[in-house]
This record gives sequence, structure tokens and C-alpha cells, in this order.
Amino acid sequence: MQDRKKEMRKALLERRKQLDHNSVLELSGAIQRKILDSRFFKECPVIMAYMPIQNEVRTGFIISEGLAMGKTILLPRVADSERMEAVPVVNPDSELIKGALGIMEPHPSMPAADPRTIDLVILPGIAFDRKGHRLGFGAGYYDRFITHLKKDCILLAPAYDFQVLDQIPADDFDKPADLIITEKQIIHVSQKGRFIW
Ligand code: ADP
Ligand code: MG
Repeated sequence: MQDRKKEMRKALLERRKQLDHNSVLELSGAIQRKILDSRFFKECPVIMAYMPIQNEVRTGFIISEGLAMGKTILLPRVADSERMEAVPVVNPDSELIKGALGIMEPHPSMPAADPRTIDLVILPGIAFDRKGHRLGFGAGYYDRFITHLKKDCILLAPAYDFQVLDQIPADDFDKPADLIITEKQIIHVSQKGRFIW
């Protein structure tokens, strides 16, 4: 299982690396606009986003628009080799520093929030399948973090269309996304979020 995941990770990361900068911005813009236009983005007051690395789908509009709309925006911070926490930010330009994984994260002095307050998690991934199964970087940070969320929290995965595969091997601890949004399609995996899309 871990070998199959590893192979897929490698192939999909290679594919993502091929994207030129303009495509990253253009496709990320289209994906973020769909999210920002959705009724449920508007209705969720507490949203956890992520800070992109490499050619990951950008989240800048989600963060800035969310803050401008008066929402609570949280960003992940790695606490130790297994644990990730969610920290509310107000001014990401000055509050973030590069963390252990090379990802920008909230300064260590900022307090983490109770994960049960989060309504919507923007879930990063290297690939997803139509059942919502997710391929992460291989450390399982999100799989563990998701177990602390409230039951009706929505897991929304922004992805380039090529990151949606027929099937991704899933372990028992893998937590599927509720919906996947690409520049071309919206895939509703669960009923969650469907009624307020
Ligand atoms: P990723 O989700 O980043 O693609 P994997 O799904 O391969 O990575 O998971 C990586 C590791 O995280 C696995 O070795 C697994 O044992 C561990 N893990 C995942 N979820 C949990 C959990 N809820 N509790 C403890 N360990 C977990
Ligand atoms: Mg996993």
C-alpha cells in the first residue's frame, strides 16, 4: 500500500512540476473563484486554509477575501513530527514564518484554536479520487488532524483537474474529502456541503 502511494505521489508531483507559473496562477484563480462564489463559503464563518508550496493550488484570494468578509481564517502549523494545529491569523503578511517543512506558518507565539470551532477546511493534496480519497505528502498530518474536527466540518479539496484520478489506494486512517473543486468540475463526494453549494 505505502509503495503504491509512493509511486503515485512521485508521478503526480512530477506532473505538477511541469506546470508553468502562469498556469498555476490562472488555474488557481479559476478554482478559488468557484469556491469564493459558492454559497457555503459565504456561510462558513471559520475557515482553515493552507499556505501553498511549489505549484500547489494557490489560496491567496481565499485568505484575503475571507478576512475581508470578516471570517476567522486559520492556517496550519506543525507542532511536532506527528501533530499539526490550526492558528487564527489576522495579517498573514506579517504573522507567518517559514516552518520546519519549508511551509509558511503562523509564528510560534500565536495561540492555536480548538479544531472543533472550524466549519470548513481547505484540504491540500497531491491527488484525489472521485471517492474523495487523498494523497498527501506521506506524513499523515491531515489524516490525524481531521480526527479532531467536529463531525459536520466540511473538507473541501481544491485541485487541478489532472490531480483527480480514477482510484487512489486508501488506508483505514485516510479521511476522504467531502468535495473536490477543479477548474473544470465540482465533485460532490458526500452529502455534506451539497445542499448549500
Ligand atoms: P498522506 O495522508 O500524507 O498521503 P499516509 O496516508 O500514507 O500519508 O499516512 C502517513 C502515516 O500517517 C501512516 O504511516 C499512518 O500510520 C499515519 N497516520 C495516519 N492517520 C493516523 C492516525 N489517525 N493516527 C495515527 N497515525 C496515523
Ligand atoms: Mg493519508
